[in-house]
Amino acid sequence: MKFCSQCGDSVSLKVPKGDNRPRYVCQACAFIHYQNPNVVVGTLPVLIDPSGELKILLCRRNIEPRFGFWTLPAGFLENAETSSEGALRETVEESCATIGNLALYRIFNVAHTNQIHMFFRADMLNDQFSTTTESSDVRLFSFSEIPWSELAFPTVHKALMDFIDDHKIGHFPVEMGDIDESYWRKM
Ligand SMILES: [Zn+2]
Repeated sequence: MKFCSQCGDSVSLKVPKGDNRPRYVCQACAFIHYQNPNVVVGTLPVLIDPSGELKILLCRRNIEPRFGFWTLPAGFLENAETSSEGALRETVEESCATIGNLALYRIFNVAHTNQIHMFFRADMLNDQFSTTTESSDVRLFSFSEIPWSELAFPTVHKALMDFIDDHKIGHFPVEMGDIDESYWRKM
């Protein structure tokens, strides 16, 4: 950050009085620009196909970062939006799927990228979906078809692995986990 969003003058990094970490502080108006983590919200949409098999909807990213990789539909939470509203909106924007019954499933602290990722389990209410400006391909995958080596983000990988494990026992407890930079190396 170089300039103050309040008055346009330059900012400098310093520890404000009474604080304990550096902040961007305006040299002219003294406004303190606090920077805090972003929340990413998404869904794990599932559909039972006519043969009774459970399928998961994934989107192929048509945007950076991780262009061309597969992801669960997810994106940044907007102001004045609840987490489940954001997850639903992102799912529509990225896949045009109609979903319901959202249930919180995973919260991941991704401290090294200053993010918190929240995933909701969701039911697809019909078998309709399509590509969008954000997704070059949208497809249903059975567990054995999931493109593990082409997944966009560690949190997507972990949420999918956890879901498949939980599906074996038919029980989906909400859990929180930490994801660090070494996640892919440990795979
Ligand atoms: Zn200022």
